[in-house]
Amino acid sequence: MKIAILGGGAAGFYTAIHCKLFNPEAEVTIIEKSQKLLSKVKVSGGGRCNVTNVESDPLKLSKHYPRGERLLSKAFREHGSKETREFFESRGVDLVVQEDGCIFPKSQSSQTIIDCFLNECKRLNVRINTGLNINGMKQNTDHSWCLSSKEEQLDFDKVIVCIGGLPKWEHMQWLQDLGQPMITPCPSLFTFNMPNESIRELMGTVAPQVLTRIPGLKYHGHGPLLITHWGMSGPAILMLSAKGARDLFDKNYRFICNVSWLGITNEDEIKNKILALQKELFKRKIGGASFYGLSTRLWRYLIEKSGVDVEKTWEQLSNKDLNRLVVILTQDAYQVEGKTTFKEEFVTAGGVDLQHINFKTMESKTLPNLFFAGEVLDIDGITGGFNFQAAWTTGWLAARGAAVNFSPNV
Ligand SMILES: Cc1cc2nc3c(=O)[nH]c(=O)nc-3n(C[C@H](O)[C@H](O)[C@H](O)COP(=O)(O)OP(=O)(O)OC[C@H]3O[C@@H](n4cnc5c(N)ncnc54)[C@H](O)[C@@H]3O)c2cc1C
Repeated sequence: MKIAILGGGAAGFYTAIHCKLFNPEAEVTIIEKSQKLLSKVKVSGGGRCNVTNVESDPLKLSKHYPRGERLLSKAFREHGSKETREFFESRGVDLVVQEDGCIFPKSQSSQTIIDCFLNECKRLNVRINTGLNINGMKQNTDHSWCLSSKEEQLDFDKVIVCIGGLPKWEHMQWLQDLGQPMITPCPSLFTFNMPNESIRELMGTVAPQVLTRIPGLKYHGHGPLLITHWGMSGPAILMLSAKGARDLFDKNYRFICNVSWLGITNEDEIKNKILALQKELFKRKIGGASFYGLSTRLWRYLIEKSGVDVEKTWEQLSNKDLNRLVVILTQDAYQVEGKTTFKEEFVTAGGVDLQHINFKTMESKTLPNLFFAGEVLDIDGITGGFNFQAAWTTGWLAARGAAVNFSPNV
């Protein structure tokens, strides 16, 4: 059996290796259009490669995917983060779990992961063909595939497409032309630009536990928020950008972002917190110290923005002042005008429509012997090792689907 893997990235390598593990007799070839293999793995996680996450419960793990959650929750039962760790550790890659649950190679270098893949391909005799640009693909009458480049035509029994994501239609349109239903790609995981908001002057400031929302949309982000030179970043923003990727694309990245600065939206709860401090710091200035984890600088900014005099003492706080502080702490609002791609990790939402994929085998329901894995699928996760995990899991399923004569009903 001859299997072609299109794309020499994370999903391509994991899939190729598992094709050989499932079926050592299979002839497996990775075809990479550029001269570079595993280039995203190299730069991932700031050069450290956040390979997966400590969360191993399939249902909980799947909650980190704005697109693909339902299907992944089943797939993770077969091959999830536990199996990924076993794969790397059994090949001599020591892993460490960070406090936030992210898992990295102990070497703190993505090269360890690259070396592991290259060594394993060598050991298993996976062929690697770089700089080969496939510009045509056609199904033969026996349902095998003929791939053509400028120079040659290559026949394969099965093709696994692992070309990754790019938020550009041209990157994937050829799949649609082939007859594979696709969802328009758009970026996910980006930071918010706020060119007209003075909060940017506080760049470098972190609020440890906020809640972010967009009026009219049902989801929210939570966690730390970082104020940047451009606007806002940090997990609470990235999570919101991932969940809202498609809606925010439709809004042309112009919208209001609401921030609840203590992660609390309940006004009475915030009021009680303010009253408790008022009792304690009666004679002190309200802007004189930090406020429940918010830095003094940020707290003073918020007091001023609410229209309350920062020089007032807590005992001088009127009911009107109290209400203004409650509003700013629970539903502060910022005008977003544009986005910046997050430098650490950005991914594509959209791609191969999951409805037209057999999720047991990753085979196309419309084009037999054509399989998919990785970011080319309409699957994406938030930051934390979840995007690689989706590539590993879908790669493992595609390998089993293609290399074993696997019947999903057995
Ligand atoms: C800067 C950055 C940092 C990241 N860090 C992390 C992280 O730490 N943890 C995490 O979980 N996720 C991270 N991600 C996301 C993660 O890198 C991707 O989700 C993952 O690489 C997807 O794997 P893939 O194999 O599907 O695609 P890719 O890794 O993009 O590989 C696709 C490959 O296919 C090739 N290709 C494209 N078209 C063709 C074609 N027609 N024929 C042949 N080859 C083709 C490309 O050249 C490429 O080599 C990061 C992303 C970025 C951009």
